[in-house]
Amino acid sequence: MLTVEADVTPGLSGFNLIGPPAMSTASMRDRVRAAILNSGFDWPDASITITVHPAIPPCGPMADLAMAVALLAAARHLPPDRIATTMFVGELGLDGRIRPARGVLPAVGAGMRAGISTAVVPDTCADEAAQVPGAEIFPAARLADLIKGLREGSLDNHVLVGPVTQPAPALDLADVAGNHSARRALEVCAAGGHHLFMLGNGPAAMLAERLPSILPPLDLDAAREVGEIHSAAGILEVPPGRRSPIREPHYTATLAALVGNLSRPGAVSLAHRGLLYLADAPEFTWQALDGVRRAIETGEIVLAGHDHTVRYPAEFMLVASARHCPCEGNGRCDCTPFIRRRYQARLTELLQRVEVRTCIEPLHWPAVAGESSATVAARVLEARGRAADRLADTPWRTNAEVPASELRVRFPAEHGAIELLRSALDSGLLTSEAFIRVLRVAWTLADLRGAGRPAHQDAAGALELWLGHEG
Ligand SMILES: [Zn+2]
Repeated sequence: MLTVEADVTPGLSGFNLIGPPAMSTASMRDRVRAAILNSGFDWPDASITITVHPAIPPCGPMADLAMAVALLAAARHLPPDRIATTMFVGELGLDGRIRPARGVLPAVGAGMRAGISTAVVPDTCADEAAQVPGAEIFPAARLADLIKGLREGSLDNHVLVGPVTQPAPALDLADVAGNHSARRALEVCAAGGHHLFMLGNGPAAMLAERLPSILPPLDLDAAREVGEIHSAAGILEVPPGRRSPIREPHYTATLAALVGNLSRPGAVSLAHRGLLYLADAPEFTWQALDGVRRAIETGEIVLAGHDHTVRYPAEFMLVASARHCPCEGNGRCDCTPFIRRRYQARLTELLQRVEVRTCIEPLHWPAVAGESSATVAARVLEARGRAADRLADTPWRTNAEVPASELRVRFPAEHGAIELLRSALDSGLLTSEAFIRVLRVAWTLADLRGAGRPAHQDAAGALELWLGHEG
């Protein structure tokens, strides 16, 4: 939240902006001045002072509108009491047009939390702003019309028309023929929120892109979080859906595109409450994979700037895929030992992060269609319901989130399940960290078959999914 104050004092004409860093002052003044002049108002021939506080950089063009309105009120073009408890969001065009801005949804949300429920926003962002419950939204297209409306008290507020409906899923799991073990792995990951790795030359992207169609719809809070992040990136669809988002960054994506920068969230945050799909995962740079790993471990991205810090949430399911070696598909391998070794090393690093691994095989035609997304989604929803009931008075929603200590003390598995995993641990098949990951998946398998807690068969199934391509 920024507070903008303006003062116009007769005397030596000048412009003084106190607050945001000096670099943007001149361009900001020029933009606001052009917009005011081209809206038919005079630029006061006086000493003008505008303060913006707190002075957190980057105070972008989003504050243009607030500055222009404050200045015009100080110059007696409208009564100051009309704007004292209103929030203004928007960039100004040189012609006085109010241009759409990124992040209107979280901005209006922040206003509500600060006790300001009235907001003037660019008219093209009105539907987005109206997503904030309880906010009174006044859309504005031009500065001149806005000032006239404020002066006469004749602004129309905006009511979002039409129900927020969920569009039908475009992609269906039925399209993926064969690949039974991969389909099963996808279902288990959807039910427990586990990370998935797919190895081989097959329809990895097809499978990943169909994962949202079997995930339960986002609850209201999650949908709001997703909406705020997507609004900050300027890619919010209105009305926002309840489907889990999916991001598929290419391996050539920059680190900033992946983890974000000070002014814009990256792919790992746009995948928040949804999934991040890394195709050809070992082709990503170490740096990129490390950024993804940090996000997985902490559930957020923290970026430190010169004098402020930005935090973006980043809780997502990771779906990664790889071929056996970088050249697979050419028929014969002509990779140099160095390339193959580097690929394998990154593969190994990645595999530490996922609970479920599976092999995929090319699609063969003609093929029998698989089960539809609706059928699988019903089973996933039921399994998630069981986990949610069990975790009702905890901060966790899915099996993947339950910490190791809680698994040991609060949610004991059946003796047979623990015995099996312990022997895998003793024989060196599992590390102690992997032990916990496999145990989490065993809980999901138990949820999928409607059992109260994991038995021997669930542990065995989870172990198989962990070993994946190696087994
Ligand atoms: Zn090769």
